[in-house]
Amino acid sequence: MKNIYLDNNATTAVAPEVIEAMAPYFKEHWGNPSSMHAFGGHVKRAIDEARQQVAELIHADPSEIIFTSCGTESDNTAIRGGVEAVEGHLNIITTRVEHPAVLGPCRYLGERGHRVYEINVDSSGQLDMVQLGAALRDGPALTSVMWANNETGVVFPIPEICEMVKAAGGVFHTDAVQAAGKFPIDVRQVPVDMLSLSGHKLHAPKGIGILYIRRGTRLQPFMLGGHQEDNRRAGTENVPYIVGLGCAAQLAQKHMAEEANAVSRLRDRLEAGLLSTCPDSRVNGDRVHRLPNTTNISFEYIEGESILMDMSEVGIAASSGSACTSGSLEPSHVLRAMGVPFTAVHGSVRFSLSRYTTIEEVDYTLKQLPPIVARLRAISPFVKKG
Ligand code: PLP
Repeated sequence: MKNIYLDNNATTAVAPEVIEAMAPYFKEHWGNPSSMHAFGGHVKRAIDEARQQVAELIHADPSEIIFTSCGTESDNTAIRGGVEAVEGHLNIITTRVEHPAVLGPCRYLGERGHRVYEINVDSSGQLDMVQLGAALRDGPALTSVMWANNETGVVFPIPEICEMVKAAGGVFHTDAVQAAGKFPIDVRQVPVDMLSLSGHKLHAPKGIGILYIRRGTRLQPFMLGGHQEDNRRAGTENVPYIVGLGCAAQLAQKHMAEEANAVSRLRDRLEAGLLSTCPDSRVNGDRVHRLPNTTNISFEYIEGESILMDMSEVGIAASSGSACTSGSLEPSHVLRAMGVPFTAVHGSVRFSLSRYTTIEEVDYTLKQLPPIVARLRAISPFVKKG
């Protein structure tokens, strides 16, 4: 049975180099970094090195990085902590296509009296910049806009958005969970105030993330208690995972250009192959400003779940933007915000590749999927027959 993994925006395989880097911090160096003795000193240095490695990936100063438990914690800290740190009222500006890790805290604050603007996207998934500009003129705001979308891979023009927010005098956070490691990010050139990143999207384990906090940014810590992370995030550090994330960041940075090239070629081969062999299929989202590893394809008139189940039978894993498979009862809020027709939202499948995807896996998928689509279409109640 094949075991082909095309769901890397959900999570990635932990790189063997990362496992190797982490192992000593389970076996030998298990001390508490806050301890004054030698057991603590060694692991403290390992954390410092990992902080340096992660900082290099986004060209930050290591002192501007705090380790968190995941991307969701980073997003919550930035949004809730950013709003709470400011005396007086802040509006909150975000987009309709954010991950729930951003929409959740924004809506929570909305229920507590903050005005929340969820900016629209067009049919290609790109942001309505006019609406964003109008919201920014409505008063002081914390703005949170993702760098790249997890479902479609669409990349937002963060340099331009950041400039607009800064010109309006606001605080700017970006969720770069899907972007980090896939294309260059330089916080010296794009002066975001805060940026979230998650380990398990770049071949480190689940359960580790970072929040970049530009020096001088006001932030109320989310986790209170100990003095870890320079009083910005209490809790004993997850040393092995921090070391793993440092290693993963270094690997991503070292191989970024060639990996993006190779992965996008495979993605394009998959996409072109499926579009040409499956009638009534379409790509969702901007195909130019897009992550190199992602394609979101709708196979009209059939259910994404059925496609996924049949793919799974032949050993291929991907994910769908329709109900249920994503653990939600609602069809994709991202595709709906883009105005994708109902029949296409339900038949959408996200394929997300990684450095470990091979041409043989892509070609196998190209062989298996068209007959699956044809078979499901033949029994679909939505297709007009004869
Ligand atoms: N933001 C985006 C864009 C994501 O894709 C995800 C995870 O899928 C998250 C945030 C949450 O990250 P984590 O799973 O580390 O909590």
